[in-house]
Amino acid sequence: MNAPPDEPQATHDENAETTHFGFQDVPLAAKQSLVDDVFHSVANRYDLMNDLMSGGLHRAWKEALVTAVNPPRGRSFSLLDLAGGTGDVAFRVLAAGGGATRATVVDINPDMLAVGRERAAARGRAGIAFVEGNAESLPFPDRSFDAVTIAFGIRNVPRIEAALAEARRVLAIGGRFVCLEFSTVDMPGLHALYDFYSFNVIPALGRFVTGDAEAYRYLVESIRRFPRPESFAGMMRAAGLARVSFRPLTGGIVALHSGWRL
Ligand code: SAM
Repeated sequence: MNAPPDEPQATHDENAETTHFGFQDVPLAAKQSLVDDVFHSVANRYDLMNDLMSGGLHRAWKEALVTAVNPPRGRSFSLLDLAGGTGDVAFRVLAAGGGATRATVVDINPDMLAVGRERAAARGRAGIAFVEGNAESLPFPDRSFDAVTIAFGIRNVPRIEAALAEARRVLAIGGRFVCLEFSTVDMPGLHALYDFYSFNVIPALGRFVTGDAEAYRYLVESIRRFPRPESFAGMMRAAGLARVSFRPLTGGIVALHSGWRL
């Protein structure tokens, strides 16, 4: 039924919607610039911090993602790595695939992309493009990639549903979406140790290495606010992805999520 003409129409007010920025509730429209400030501040030390914080484990987690993507060696293959930052996942997929593998890294933060471009130049790595863009609204046609990945990126995106819908849209039919994200530690002994490490050691390490403890406090808090893996799997299904599954790694510190465009 149409509303009477003299009655005010309901409008969508983004400032009225809130979301999380770590443990703070913030207007949905404000989150992206807060996230951008974090990655602007840490871009130059981002890769070093990943190694220090995770004791090198992030490398094994990313290799599990690459195994799931399984780039073929004998034919062309196009990867889109969302929130790809300094290109770490894309470099790994290129190394695993054949000579006809191509990777496009999309990230909203020019400082992270600049580090990625320098890494590509230093390695003489071809077949990789760095594109500034928002995962919520991708500048690519429908069905243009064989695989779409996102590692430790989705919890930073304000409108997760929009990013998942975009990932599905740009996937070729039969293509796979693979997402690596921090998850929920359910092992009692590990839980206490992990909390102590997260809330005490990581911000102090962040202050020492990057001069920015707050950026790493955000990291730890945002992990706690991210949906449990079962809920995130539900969001992937709601976005239209099929055969959705997830696998906890390292006691649930991270989870590898997978879905297909069928
Ligand atoms: N994927 C890389 C890795 O695993 O090393 C970088 C992950 S880093 C924790 C998160 C990245 O998400 C940052 O580079 C940040 O700029 C990016 N990001 C945040 N919001 C975004 C958005 N709306 N669209 C695209 N990238 C975004």
